Amino acid sequence: MSEKMKEYIDEAEKALLHTYNRYRIVLDHGEGVHLYDIDGKSYLDFVAGIAVFALGYGDKEYNDALKAQIDKLLHTSNYYYNVPAIEAAKLLKKESGMDRVFFTNSGAEAVEGAIKTARKYAYTRDGHTDHEIIAMEHSFHGRTMGALSVTGNAHYREAFEPGIGNIRFATYNDLDSVKALVSRKTCAIILETVQGEGGLTPATPEFLEGIRKICDENDILMILDEIQCGMGRTGSWFAWQKYGIKPDVMTSAKALGCGVPIGAFLMTEKVAGSSLVPGDHGTTYGGNPFACEAAKTVLELFEKRDIIEHVNSVAPYLEEKLGEIKSRHSCIKEIRGTGLMRGLVFDGPVSGVINKALEKGLILINAGSDILRFVPPLVITEKDIDTMAEILDSCIE
Ligand SMILES: *Cc1c(COP(=O)(O)O)cnc(C)c1O
Repeated sequence: MSEKMKEYIDEAEKALLHTYNRYRIVLDHGEGVHLYDIDGKSYLDFVAGIAVFALGYGDKEYNDALKAQIDKLLHTSNYYYNVPAIEAAKLLKKESGMDRVFFTNSGAEAVEGAIKTARKYAYTRDGHTDHEIIAMEHSFHGRTMGALSVTGNAHYREAFEPGIGNIRFATYNDLDSVKALVSRKTCAIILETVQGEGGLTPATPEFLEGIRKICDENDILMILDEIQCGMGRTGSWFAWQKYGIKPDVMTSAKALGCGVPIGAFLMTEKVAGSSLVPGDHGTTYGGNPFACEAAKTVLELFEKRDIIEHVNSVAPYLEEKLGEIKSRHSCIKEIRGTGLMRGLVFDGPVSGVINKALEKGLILINAGSDILRFVPPLVITEKDIDTMAEILDSCIE
């Protein structure tokens, strides 16, 4: 590592709040599926900024669209209309089949909006203010107070209690545990279609169908968090589309902007018609023309380049290669996940493997301490997967 890089890292450790134990590289630029640090060292990237940079780095069409928008207009506030937001909303509606969109600046904010929608929907119906939300153990929905309150990780929540209150936790993929918590007070059930941080666990079809049924029978809103598993990552625009069910409310973010901060919560017309009204919710930046130009361009490029089809063609190869790696190393217990959202479960911490891989020019990340997570740019090729597998193999003892 160069002196210059060491200096930057020292500066960072003095200036930035220490809320992350960062890997010791300072990144400079990216191209395709590779990142480069300030010393010029290249890394094959299997993280994509945590499931964000779906299109890969330095994409000319994406960059040109953003540059043009910068010269036109960056921000308007939500008191006026802007064309990129209108077009992004139209495309997002088309691909999701949902009816109404609210743009946010992040995933956590999208979850906040979904929670407010659910509470208002129930309040509109019965006028009560004691509604409960059922969330899942091992879930992750973000770090703001509302999103944190529905996050099923006591370690993340404990120091910040009390949360927003009236949240009950059920066991993921255990329908009976959900049924046991349903009452007159329940206004929503929130879950990730595929749990990300919590361990790359897809919902079983029976679980999602069962929750849909509970929600239909009790006028409870089914909220699917698609922030990590959506936007093509599992081989459909949104992961729930492979299950034959549809949520009442869904959240998106991460790959939606491919690097420009933008999230969204979407809902059906039925929910929109009896929940949030003018004055109930807002944001200064959310849905601004720059961020929406990013989302609009991403949605267009996904379609034009058939990114979903590419995911479906390359994902089985990743699964196969991970299977081969697992068969060679007894410390790997299980392969988890689906599509290009995969995990290798180890019998101990994976931090050593990640650091060794970094040295050898491969960027990987964990999910929990014992799971190695693979959420590469969606444009990854079989050749990139071969390179990854070769490096990873040499990093596992
Ligand atoms: C990352 C993530 C969030 C939070 O998104 P931020 O943009 O970090 O606020 C919420 N839900 C899921 C499933 C996520 O993976």
